[in-house]
Amino acid sequence: SPYVALSATASSGNVCEMEGDDGISYFIKKKFRVWCRQPRGQWELGTIQTASAEEASVSLSNGNVMKVGISEILPANPDFLDGVDDLIKLGYLNEPSVLHNLKCRYSQGMVYSKAGPILIALNPFKELQMNGNDDVSAYRQRFIDSPNVYAMADAAYNNMIRDEVNQSIIISGESGSGKTETAKIALQYLAALGGGDSCALENEFIQINRILEAFGNAKTSRNNNSSRFSRVVQLASGERSFHIFYQLCAGSSAVLKERLNLKDVSEYKYLVQSDCMSIDGVDDAKNFHQLMKALDTVQICKEDQEMIFKILAAILWLGNVLFQVDSENHIEVVDDEGKIHRVCRMPFVGLPAPYAVFSVTNAAKLMGCSSQELMAALSMHKIQSDQDTITKNLTLRQAIERRDAIAKFIYASLFDWLVDQVNKSLEVGKRRTGKSISVLDIYGFQTFQKNSFEQFYINYANERIQQHFNRHLFKLEKEDYELDGIDWTKVDFEDNQGCLDLFEKKPLGLLSLLDEESNLPKASDLTFANKLKHHLNTNPCFRGERGRAFRVCHYAGEVLYDTNDFLEKNRDMLWSDSIQLLSSCNCELLQLFSKKFNQSQKQSVATKFKGQVFKLMHKLESTAPHFIRCIKPNAKQLPGIYDDSLVLQQLKCCGVQEVVRLSRAGYPTRMTHREFSRRYGFLLSEANVSQDPLSISVAVLQKFNIPSEMFHVGYSKLYLRAGQIGALEDKRKQV
Ligand code: ATP
Ligand code: MG
Repeated sequence: SPYVALSATASSGNVCEMEGDDGISYFIKKKFRVWCRQPRGQWELGTIQTASAEEASVSLSNGNVMKVGISEILPANPDFLDGVDDLIKLGYLNEPSVLHNLKCRYSQGMVYSKAGPILIALNPFKELQMNGNDDVSAYRQRFIDSPNVYAMADAAYNNMIRDEVNQSIIISGESGSGKTETAKIALQYLAALGGGDSCALENEFIQINRILEAFGNAKTSRNNNSSRFSRVVQLASGERSFHIFYQLCAGSSAVLKERLNLKDVSEYKYLVQSDCMSIDGVDDAKNFHQLMKALDTVQICKEDQEMIFKILAAILWLGNVLFQVDSENHIEVVDDEGKIHRVCRMPFVGLPAPYAVFSVTNAAKLMGCSSQELMAALSMHKIQSDQDTITKNLTLRQAIERRDAIAKFIYASLFDWLVDQVNKSLEVGKRRTGKSISVLDIYGFQTFQKNSFEQFYINYANERIQQHFNRHLFKLEKEDYELDGIDWTKVDFEDNQGCLDLFEKKPLGLLSLLDEESNLPKASDLTFANKLKHHLNTNPCFRGERGRAFRVCHYAGEVLYDTNDFLEKNRDMLWSDSIQLLSSCNCELLQLFSKKFNQSQKQSVATKFKGQVFKLMHKLESTAPHFIRCIKPNAKQLPGIYDDSLVLQQLKCCGVQEVVRLSRAGYPTRMTHREFSRRYGFLLSEANVSQDPLSISVAVLQKFNIPSEMFHVGYSKLYLRAGQIGALEDKRKQV
């Protein structure tokens, strides 16, 4: 059948080579829809009117007729398939068909679709009625058959109870695509399912989210409420630091402000540098009051709360400490009125006092140390030799780095401590079954014009998640076939082991080589890049580029990395002087943070990160995974706009096409015998109609001479190769 010929060629790539004109003449005769690539790259629906070997004349749905190269035409699905809830039901799975289907659904307010076992979630950028308004039992009756987050959470819960196996819901997607919101919806549903006082548990989750978001989220250019990690000391224009800083400044009482010596947001260098201090529609003061209630809910006592606020204020004051260098190359602290305070005198003893340096005094007071101690830690490096302690002046750059490193370290430790407290509060009085459902909100694959250390390890983590995904998907497909009594023949899929090896191999992998170079005193980003080129250029997943750049072939596409700052960011040095300072502070939390640091192994960022990824994977391996891929339909963060090329790029990045390809290799069209017999049973003569659905299905296939290699009859479902459903639909229309 020409349908088969078309679908087979379309499956091998994006461009359909319609061999001979058999296929085309069939499309012309039947007036079947085709996709036609426009000069600017977008796809339009149309029907072919005439065609030669190279070119066709296509009548577009907007009434225009245009000449198009044959290579710019792809077969489209019959219109009755528009907006199917699972992409696997599409006969043709080419790019425009997939995009069109998701767009049809999005325009009707259906943001969730399935791609086989994965749930695709398009960000609605507006409240969906469904979420939160129904109680769980009402939901369970009404929505369980349509694709959505509740259904997935429900499946995870049921599997956990039924199989007694831990479950995971793995949510990925790019910044602003809706991962965190989706995770909240899943958690809310699970909390409600949990039985007992589910309302209280649900409320607890809301409070916990409030805390995690205040301390962990910030406004970025892509998302006003983005989950972030380190942005205490450096901000890009138009972005903000963590919400908590603005909340504290806007919402704390006059008494608290006085105790913390707190000023307006605009007085702090760490906050003003990005020229963005508020977010439209966000009331920081109100959020601060809610945050304080949330801290009460997780049983963080008032004293600890005050300690948290003190630490936050100390960080802000630290950021205001400025330095300059005098003629003898000594570091001087500049105060807020521009007065200079000399802090570096050799020998270390005999610092002139008192130091009326505003920022330093405030920071020191809040941290619980003297300003002299703080200034010394910020401007000098102590070297411990056998008998003596030698002090060495820091350069201006080193002093700034040290100040920022202390601020970052304190903030990161505070965040970790809060997470610990939250987890402890969750344990209290809870019935434990020993089984769990983990919800993972993970950073999706990233590619920008300029990709740095952050993208490098985020993409590495995604490479691991992708492998987990591939393995699992195979297992699922296999199980689905086997359950339905069908022979499983292995289908080829794109394995990303090669790329993982490129990262992980010892000693000649990207991560090992990075650590090796980070340990060499004379190394630079350029020597690192050259080392990579020297050792890895024969690796098919690697390509050395000019200067400091290199390229990696990730599963989701090639990414060009710039090694600028790789070594420094990987070392992430925190001098022992700084830790010593914290341990001497009269503040319980700072002392705790310094202890934790001393207990932890001092590892490079890459090694630590790899360890965390392995731990995560190890945990996930022992769970039955459920995958949600979040998609951002437009970059404007607005409802109702669907940008084809943006969606396509994300579908590629999150490997939806891989799933699609995998499914195509098997039997993409799956209909239960009941569905199939209802739709096509009437094509048979009267006598057959009273039989059971399975027999009707078989009779239909026989009547229309569908070749046996084109389908498989399972116990419950009929499995059809790509394109077969179109041919049957054609027969149906002829009647
Ligand atoms: P990041 O990687 O930056 O943390 P993210 O993928 O976690 O991004 P979210 O913070 O979940 O993205 O979503 C961004 C914004 O999109 C939300 O603040 C909200 O305005 C909107 N949004 C996302 N999902 C939904 C949803 N299901 N319903 C309503 N609005 C949503
Ligand atoms: Mg997030």
